[in-house]
Amino acid sequence: MTTTAAQTPVGNPYEAAVAQLDAAAERLGLDAGMREVLRHCKREFTVNFPVQMDDGSIRVFTGYRIHHNEARGPVKGGLRYSLNVSLDEVRALAMWMTWKCAVANLPYGGAKGGVIVDPRALSKRELERLTRRFAAEIGLLIGPDEDVPAPDMGTDQQVMAWIMDTYSMMHGHSVPAVVTGKPVTIGGSSGRVEATGRGVLFVAQEACRDRGVALEGATVAVQGFGNVGSVAAKLLAEAGARVVAVSDARGGVYDAGGLDIGALLAMSPAHGVIPDGARGERITNEQLLALDVDILIPAALEGQIHAGNAGRIRAPMIIEAANGPTTPDGDVVLNERGCYVVPDILANSGGVIVSYFEWVQDLQSFFWEESEVNAKLQRIMQRAFAEVAALRDEHHCTLRDAAYLLAVRRVVEATQVRGIFP
Ligand code: NAD
Repeated sequence: MTTTAAQTPVGNPYEAAVAQLDAAAERLGLDAGMREVLRHCKREFTVNFPVQMDDGSIRVFTGYRIHHNEARGPVKGGLRYSLNVSLDEVRALAMWMTWKCAVANLPYGGAKGGVIVDPRALSKRELERLTRRFAAEIGLLIGPDEDVPAPDMGTDQQVMAWIMDTYSMMHGHSVPAVVTGKPVTIGGSSGRVEATGRGVLFVAQEACRDRGVALEGATVAVQGFGNVGSVAAKLLAEAGARVVAVSDARGGVYDAGGLDIGALLAMSPAHGVIPDGARGERITNEQLLALDVDILIPAALEGQIHAGNAGRIRAPMIIEAANGPTTPDGDVVLNERGCYVVPDILANSGGVIVSYFEWVQDLQSFFWEESEVNAKLQRIMQRAFAEVAALRDEHHCTLRDAAYLLAVRRVVEATQVRGIFP
């Protein structure tokens, strides 16, 4: 079989996000004014900024930082470095962050940011200069009480360290709580790197309990082998599941007997990349999505499951580790086919939950053991899952509908009790 990048009609993620919100608003009977408030992102910041490259030339990059809603607290959300970053993508991701924080009942609103850049095409010094300049530009918006960025696709602990340092230089003292996902030596939290993947494991355990099926021995396919996908695959395998397929942007590997995730990670030539010498059959990302497995975990990027391929998906359970991996029309097909979908705003909230712990630890300058972090993460995820499942049973709807009901209702309550200024 040949290996190609996943080419799919992704659609407009912001339109998808608004469609999901509208469905929840309809169920909740929200008035037109409240719907308008929630549909819009409160602040949208675009900046075109110069960076000096190693050869002395100057390039201008475009970056965004968007705040969707801050009714429940300071805004929180990742920073993405990718050539695919666009205003509408960042808007959608900011809105999804609002709902994700509300489902987990964290005291945050939603934000997101990004720079249109291929970080792998820059040297480390260029990446640092780009990051520091962008951090200075969004310095107007970010801060522990205002907006707390975190890593997302294409950014990592090092990028967060540069942002923390730049912000601290501008304020004359160290401000660790301005970002999360930092290295532990400068105020990062134990357990943060693995948190999203670990949260996917906790959610998979709850989902299997909910469905009355065993996780042990279940076959699993994971799309994406980056921070989220590789950790989820590793922890699921450790929990007794059989991970039969994983993929990166170029395609994947499949072994019906189960892959050795530890060995794949040890052989990986770069972050998120499946080694060329990996054992197993080469498959495309489309083939991975259509595998006959018990659990499918899209952990790469948005819009991967859509009306054009949802009919081919055979997995009875999907756990959305990526943000927005299923388009609304793809979701309709999955629902018609009785597929059990744990939505992104519940399934991948482990990252923001431990980011919340990191922020709390930074503000108190008092740090927790990793076991404490993981136990608290599990408790919050179990509670969120139980609350969503209870609403699903009450309203006879899907887990996604129930998660949106819970989230939108919480944001509406906060907006109403605060009132509209002035
Ligand atoms: P990452 O950059 O670490 O890894 C991304 C992976 O996806 C890589 O293996 C890459 O090769 C693969 N990929 C890229 N394009 C692809 C394509 N077209 N088809 C298949 N695979 C492709 O990113 P990450 O941090 O693991 O994030 C993955 C997803 O999870 C994103 O949707 C992100 O928004 C979401 N998410 C991340 C976190 C976090 O803490 N990192 C938290 C919540 C949600």
